[in-house]
Amino acid sequence: MTGIVDRYSPETTPSATRRDFPEIGRRAGQFPRATLRDRWTPDDQDVTLWCSNDYLSMGQHPAVIEAMRGALERFGAGAGGSRNIGGTNPYHVQLESELADLHGKESALVFSSGYAANEGSLSVLAGRPPGLVAFSDELNHASIIDGLRHSGAERRIFRHNDTEHLGELLADVDPRRLKLVVVESIYSMSGDTAPLASIVDLAQRHGALIYDDEVHAVGMYGPEGAGVAAREGIADQITVVMGTLAKAFGTVGGYVAGPASLIDTVRTFARSFIFTTSLPPAVAAGALTAVRHLRSSEQERDRLAENSRALHDQLRRRGLPVRSDETHIAAVVVGEAQRCRAASRLLLQDHGVYVTAMDPPSVRPGEELLRVTASASHTGADVERFTHALDQVWTDLDLPRTGR
Ligand code: PLP
Repeated sequence: MTGIVDRYSPETTPSATRRDFPEIGRRAGQFPRATLRDRWTPDDQDVTLWCSNDYLSMGQHPAVIEAMRGALERFGAGAGGSRNIGGTNPYHVQLESELADLHGKESALVFSSGYAANEGSLSVLAGRPPGLVAFSDELNHASIIDGLRHSGAERRIFRHNDTEHLGELLADVDPRRLKLVVVESIYSMSGDTAPLASIVDLAQRHGALIYDDEVHAVGMYGPEGAGVAAREGIADQITVVMGTLAKAFGTVGGYVAGPASLIDTVRTFARSFIFTTSLPPAVAAGALTAVRHLRSSEQERDRLAENSRALHDQLRRRGLPVRSDETHIAAVVVGEAQRCRAASRLLLQDHGVYVTAMDPPSVRPGEELLRVTASASHTGADVERFTHALDQVWTDLDLPRTGR
């Protein structure tokens, strides 16, 4: 037994991919301030976070917390079952109706996470129609890859954001076969946006359906926070939009919205929806409040846009190599696992800033990076302090810069 178990020990994992998780206590009412402890700093250390996905700080919004408290007292802690077996609470239904309305779609379905939403929906949407071919961007998230794999459908992978390549692959498939193009509107690890208008054009020309993961856009971009396709005025051309409740909406859960017949098929067959307990009512209530709030308030989006602009301006001015400056995600490339970890460690030790070092399998080997995220709660002074700290770390580690 010992011999077998030892084969799983961390020593068999190359140190570059072994992961440590610091304990982070985000302080409600004071995001992005937090306390952090890890194996090097056993006592709580005050830090400023620059890698949280709670982009609009809805996780600490008083109305969200109040809604969750109310639901907790009214309905108790858990949902009590899967959606099918007694676990459908009024808040799940209201949330789905609100999300469908936000995206201008007939129907929506909430899952326990964005991962489960992609995995479950794509395994059904790509897998059920016989002979369907799925076209997927090479940088699509693991949950998309897994959903398409589990669908068993034939897959064609196109080069990242390369519509010419996508066009070639579409043209190469028998026009009678059903086609599904799967993209993200904002790519998580590079912070760039998909050329959605061209993708819509191509899809229409080839009679393909479009599945658009807007996880890093919902709440933050477009009218009422409906996402990038809505901002570009083409949301009605997207067949299925997928989003999360865990990032700009500040809680946890994922969803898809689209034509009633497709969503109903997902509801009936998606294993990650059926065979699991539904979200706690308090979470659904908090998410519902966050979605409603962000449909009517521009304040958080304006602050995020302002901070994103300031962050990218400063990074550019200091010659720090960022993949793209299009969004609130700044992927600052180091390109080597040990040095990327060293940069994250120095930021913490010397400057009281926490940014996770992203390494494989989250990014490809040789593309290790610091995934920096602006939020609505950072101040102008935070941006200044952070970029100064990053600049200092780049000098300390003699890391490469751009334009110099
Ligand atoms: N899709 C993309 C593009 C993501 O980046 C993520 C998570 O980071 C997910 C889906 C999964 O979302 P969730 O965190 O809600 O499971």
